[in-house]
Amino acid sequence: MHNPRGALRPILMPNVLLRRDRRRPIVLISLVGLLVSVTVAMLVGIVSFDSSARWVSHTHQVLGQIESLRSALDSTESAARGYRLSGDARLEAEYIQHRAGPPEQADVLVAMVSDNPAQQRRAEQLRSLVRERLGEIERTVELQKAGRGVDANRTMIGAGRRTRDLIDISAGGLERIERRLLADRSSESDRGAWILGGIVALGLAVALAMLGWLLRMLGQEAKRARMLEHQSREALAFIESSSAQRELLAEQRRVLGAFAGLLHSCQGVEEALDVAGNALSQLIPNGAAVCYTMRASQNLLEMHALFGTHGAGYGDAMRPDQCWGLRRGTTHVYDPVRPTALCEHLRELPPDDARGVCVPLASQGTVLGLMHVGTRRGDELTDLERAAVESVGEHLALVLYSLGLRESLRVQSLRDPLTGLYNRRYLEESLPREMERCERRGRPLSVLMLDVDHFKRFNDEHGHGAGDALLTRIGQVLAAVTRGEDIACRYGGEEFTIVMPEANLEHAAARAEQIRQSIADSTVSYMRRELGPVTASIGVNQFRPGMDSPETLMASADRALYAAKAQGRNRVICNAPVTNEISMLPHSHDA
Ligand code: GH3
Ligand code: MG
Ligand code: MG
Repeated sequence: MHNPRGALRPILMPNVLLRRDRRRPIVLISLVGLLVSVTVAMLVGIVSFDSSARWVSHTHQVLGQIESLRSALDSTESAARGYRLSGDARLEAEYIQHRAGPPEQADVLVAMVSDNPAQQRRAEQLRSLVRERLGEIERTVELQKAGRGVDANRTMIGAGRRTRDLIDISAGGLERIERRLLADRSSESDRGAWILGGIVALGLAVALAMLGWLLRMLGQEAKRARMLEHQSREALAFIESSSAQRELLAEQRRVLGAFAGLLHSCQGVEEALDVAGNALSQLIPNGAAVCYTMRASQNLLEMHALFGTHGAGYGDAMRPDQCWGLRRGTTHVYDPVRPTALCEHLRELPPDDARGVCVPLASQGTVLGLMHVGTRRGDELTDLERAAVESVGEHLALVLYSLGLRESLRVQSLRDPLTGLYNRRYLEESLPREMERCERRGRPLSVLMLDVDHFKRFNDEHGHGAGDALLTRIGQVLAAVTRGEDIACRYGGEEFTIVMPEANLEHAAARAEQIRQSIADSTVSYMRRELGPVTASIGVNQFRPGMDSPETLMASADRALYAAKAQGRNRVICNAPVTNEISMLPHSHDA
């Protein structure tokens, strides 16, 4: 049988564990939006930086171009001046080689600043000044060729210098404006970089904060998920254990039902104990149980093994005060792990076995016995098992009580109402049993047959009522003189039989003599009159194992009684033990 332990518990599933944070998707979407925005801002920034860089480079190119233009013009001018001063044909060739440079450079410059109309206008103006200057140089070269060097020099010193100054002014203006544009673009680019940096830093900070919040949320959710998992596992275990408990309960109910049905049909205590033992062995398969039944004297309990140990280690008998359960009138549990009080009747058991439960068997205020169910270490009784054991105890106590009642009714039906002694039916029932018991144990047994002498005469003289009173008195005498285990019966009329287990012929004869004497000594008062004394004759016979049946035993005693009557009454006659010859023992005088 399965033994689920632990009490039934409701499953608690707090709502907070099942709730999700509604802000989470909003924060997640915002975070994604923010990161996209930051990325777009960075891309825009990169594009803008690229364009700024290109503008800066372009400005530097324009400045370089102005410089190239100047340099080309200088080279042309210097070659022309050399040819003018020396008239060397090689220098003329050099001049011719250089003079195409300045216009080309000026064209390039105009093309370069085409995006800026104001600058373009200035470049075009510069280009025309350059052309004008080249025209002047060409003219001086022509004058030189024509041998008019003086005119050439004049031209160069006068108009030539003016044009050259204008070119420098125009180029300088172009340069200044380009440098200002460069400065403007740089500061604009710087500002843009700062703003972009700020936006990106702010966006990243906010994104990081959101990410942190999300991670915290996820952490909390993971924790909640773990808790949920734990609770689910607990719930599952609870469901499993409840279903096991249900099965166990159903099994217990089946066993207890069958047990109760059988128990209430039991004819005797032994049978009831057997049935209880079977039920307990099914309910507590790893246990052991004994039952003690209370003697009529109420001062001693006798042991019966039920199952498991076959009584090993338990005492054969115990006193009621040796059990805490009996003393307190309630179930007493002992577990060495959490020791309470160990009952004295369990002290002889091995320490590992001295655990379990004592269930007093009581009904209608009468203590009928004690049941002890023990378990070994690790197989301690569960609450369910203990309840089942108590239920067995209750049923058993009820049945023991009703069996006791039945027994006392039966005993009453075996008593003679006039004398209070057993009747002949009881004698016939108990004599064979006692003979068997003594034969088994090798003990003797004797029987006395007693008949009141001249009782008919007594009746006639004093009346039937007085006769009854006398019979009652004889009953009292016999009850007083016989021992507890002797069976004194009224055999019929004024004849009595006393069965004496464990008494040999000699003892029985002595006891018979004592009885005879007591009867002879007693009187009976009836209707305020002292009547008697009367006498009685007694025949004694000892049981011969293997030879006597109850009938022959009684018949022999009767024969001895007959002999006593024949020999004058008021005497005891014994059958000789071996020869079965009738012999006489000392006796009183005849009445
Ligand atoms: P003996 O000495 O030979 O035994 O003589 P007895 O008179 O005792 O013998 P007997 O058997 O002839 O008489 C027995 C008488 O006992 C007969 C009957 O009236 C009487 N008797 C039997 N039962 C009862 C009873 O219950 N009450 C009364 N009062 N008398 C009874
Ligand atoms: Mg008689
Ligand atoms: Mg008689």
